[in-house]
Amino acid sequence: MEEPNFFAAVQHQLDEFAKMLKLDSEIHALLRHPMRELHVLLPVRMDDGSTRVFQGFRIQHNDARGPAKGGIRFHPHESVDTIRALSMLMTWKCALADLPLGGAKGGVIVDPATLSEGEKERLCRCWIREAWKNIGHLVDIPAPDVGTTPQMMGWMMDEYIKLRGEFYPGVVTGKPLGIGGSLGRKEATGFGAIITVREALKHLRLDPKECRASIMGFGNVAQYVAINFVKTGGKVMGVSYWNRNDRKSYTITKRDGIDPCFLQSITDQYGSIDNKKALSNGYQVEDGDAWLLKEVEVLVPAAVEGVITGETLKKISPKVRIIAEAANGPTTPEADAILRKNSNIFVIPDFLCNAGGVICSYFEGVQNNMNYYWDEEEVNQKIEKTMVNAFRRVVETATEEKVYLRDAAYIIALKRVITAMKLRGWVRSDAALR
Ligand code: NAD
Repeated sequence: MEEPNFFAAVQHQLDEFAKMLKLDSEIHALLRHPMRELHVLLPVRMDDGSTRVFQGFRIQHNDARGPAKGGIRFHPHESVDTIRALSMLMTWKCALADLPLGGAKGGVIVDPATLSEGEKERLCRCWIREAWKNIGHLVDIPAPDVGTTPQMMGWMMDEYIKLRGEFYPGVVTGKPLGIGGSLGRKEATGFGAIITVREALKHLRLDPKECRASIMGFGNVAQYVAINFVKTGGKVMGVSYWNRNDRKSYTITKRDGIDPCFLQSITDQYGSIDNKKALSNGYQVEDGDAWLLKEVEVLVPAAVEGVITGETLKKISPKVRIIAEAANGPTTPEADAILRKNSNIFVIPDFLCNAGGVICSYFEGVQNNMNYYWDEEEVNQKIEKTMVNAFRRVVETATEEKVYLRDAAYIIALKRVITAMKLRGWVRSDAALR
């Protein structure tokens, strides 16, 4: 979970870009806070007959470019500031991918693991009954996130349809297949991340067949990062995971490279690998930090935030040429300041690297609105084209403006959002932007 000051940190980041881009104060003020916030209390009947009241939020940061978009998290330590911060990051992520969408995020303070299936369903339906007037396929489109699943999106869609009396599957994305979900959604974030790695290798003139990767995590994102990296011809030397039973992290390695599909077959729904089965199939089980120390060309943090620190940077192999931020916020500001000066490591910033998920969600919405569905190949081709365009634009901007890749990504996203605000007349059309 992010620190409570996460929102202050993303505001500070915006303030820095406001200075760099000489942003007008009216534009700066409009972007510094979410445009709308919904805070609700959710009374849910529990299986034992009692009623528990949960706290929920939906926060729309900016919808200048289109309907707001972002996940709903169910987490016991959820906070309104975390949701505010994440809603702002969604604005930049959608704009960078050039999706006609704004940024939003939602949350409920709850540990979903403590609820029965029936309780979860009633909570999802209750959330929609409170939020339905503020969301919609042309207004704000939620999706799954930490602690929420495709099935929960199915219940939410159903409740919304019942309230509206019309079939609107595009009100939420990340739904199961068969009720409006898109082929390719499950794989999309990892698939997209490896497209950016492939493009970065091309840019650095490195042959993927001679490259090795080491990955933190083996959940939804990391599994498809590993599978797609191997498809490009590279080797994955190790993946790490968090074991819920003994509350320790481990790295699973193999000298000649892991087989990600095999490891997937011995991994549970929470991304925990069965150490015994790994050991009996020729794998080694090392400690949790070992993934960082491997002699590899590509490091992919794909689990939690704040793992690439000033200290960890001292330990990584000199062979590392790319850090692909598949997780949200894996690099601390201190480490980022070091990487910014180290031109030898190509950092693919998180809101570019992991945009494949929201891009596929956007295509899910498009298919829902057309009521016509594409095959997986067509979905993947569209994700690939969008990711490659975004990647190239970031590299071009970084080269032209002589800035760090993360700064280039922010500059592109901010300019697009500001242009939409000007064209819509929210701010003066002559308001300054370098
Ligand atoms: P997940 O819950 O499916 O998997 C998380 C993985 O991280 C698990 O394998 C878990 O064991 C591992 N992990 C947790 N703590 C760890 C630790 N201390 N050491 C080693 N491993 C640890 O989550 P996910 O959906 O794969 O998301 C991973 C990251 O990607 C998150 O930052 C998320 O916000 C981001 N992200 C996800 C998506 C998506 O579509 N799922 C999209 C964009 C960004």
